[in-house]
Amino acid sequence: MKILVINCGSSSLKYQVIDAVTEELLAKGLCERIGIDGSFTYENVKAGLGKEKCDVDIPDHNKGISLVIEAVTDPVKGVTTLEEIGAVGHRIVHGGEAFTSSVLINDEVIAAIESVSDLAPLHNPANLIGVRACQDLMPGTPQVAVFDTAFHQTMPSKAYMYALPLEYYNKYKVRRYGFHGTSHSFVSKKVAEVVGKPYEEIKTIVCHLGNGASISAVKNGKCVDTSMGLTPLEGLIMGTRSGDLDPAIVEFIAGKENMTAAQVVSVLNKKSGVQALSNNLSSDFRDLEAGYKAGNEYAKLAVDAFCYRVAKYVGAYAAAMNGVDVIAFTAGIGENSPFVREKILAYLGYLGVDYCEERNKQRGDVVKISKDDSKVAVYAIATNEELAIARETYALVK
Ligand code: AMP
Repeated sequence: MKILVINCGSSSLKYQVIDAVTEELLAKGLCERIGIDGSFTYENVKAGLGKEKCDVDIPDHNKGISLVIEAVTDPVKGVTTLEEIGAVGHRIVHGGEAFTSSVLINDEVIAAIESVSDLAPLHNPANLIGVRACQDLMPGTPQVAVFDTAFHQTMPSKAYMYALPLEYYNKYKVRRYGFHGTSHSFVSKKVAEVVGKPYEEIKTIVCHLGNGASISAVKNGKCVDTSMGLTPLEGLIMGTRSGDLDPAIVEFIAGKENMTAAQVVSVLNKKSGVQALSNNLSSDFRDLEAGYKAGNEYAKLAVDAFCYRVAKYVGAYAAAMNGVDVIAFTAGIGENSPFVREKILAYLGYLGVDYCEERNKQRGDVVKISKDDSKVAVYAIATNEELAIARETYALVK
């Protein structure tokens, strides 16, 4: 059986076709600028045919999905038949409290996803457009929803409640949810496999450091805390997001700059983070690392503040779990930047972290960074959210 994995945004749609049994990636690609003009990228990974990109009018997501189906089932360049696609796995950003695991999509599930859309107004409606397009074009094929929030639903109330009037939780479900759950789940499970310990008997801190960044504490197979909150704005400093700050700043800036609260929050989401701290040099850590090494003081500030925040969270989560066995770095920065990893690890000697500079420079899907006798093991592990979605999907339909 083949699984089609769909990650649908408001104007883009990423897809992969994965063999459910061998877990081989067969094809992948991207529809971009949907509703604007359109461009379509397709790569037959199985045959190693390389990327093909073409400009094609994509007025809506239905057209995008039909291009995907045409490409992956093409008799010459395709990788499957339509009948062989046993299910579609959709990334859904927010499942609220309703979803603690992946589910087969039906009308009730769609209604429940819609009902929490105000918690993720940019993402959930776009995710559902992808679901509906697939339902239209592949009516007999089961669709599965895999939620970014589900993995974190095991957090205890002391970790997920904000110290606010309870009525906001009771009326509006204002609480911490956490995101990147598929990645935190995938990487924490991989850690247990790599170190050869049962998942239920290991304490892991997963640092998902990408353009969006979050960190989670996974104790004995359950997420007990994570840094993102009601929305993905809380926690670590990110590419363009501020992460944690004093909430009074919103009113203060709004008053000074004659802005609405919504406008200030938009600044916190889109114009803050390392982009802002680096004096708008870049939100990309490749540029920041180059700037840092060239002596740019703002690049240094951005990188130092980012690493300091991560190190503080690691300390907090070691306390939350009464210790930590493994620290795992993942996502764009976590997997690819020895420079950032080293700056974070330099804070963690007190925990018993002893890292090896040479190992830290190596690349691979699983790289051990700590010395063999380090009290806490440290790894860089490549995340694979699409494979995790395919696994969840297959588990529900096989
Ligand atoms: P992600 O959101 O996981 O795709 O991560 C994207 C981010 O990873 C980019 O914005 C960069 O900041 C970072 N990144 C990717 N490759 C590298 C690299 N070789 N060195 C440092 N940072 C990188």
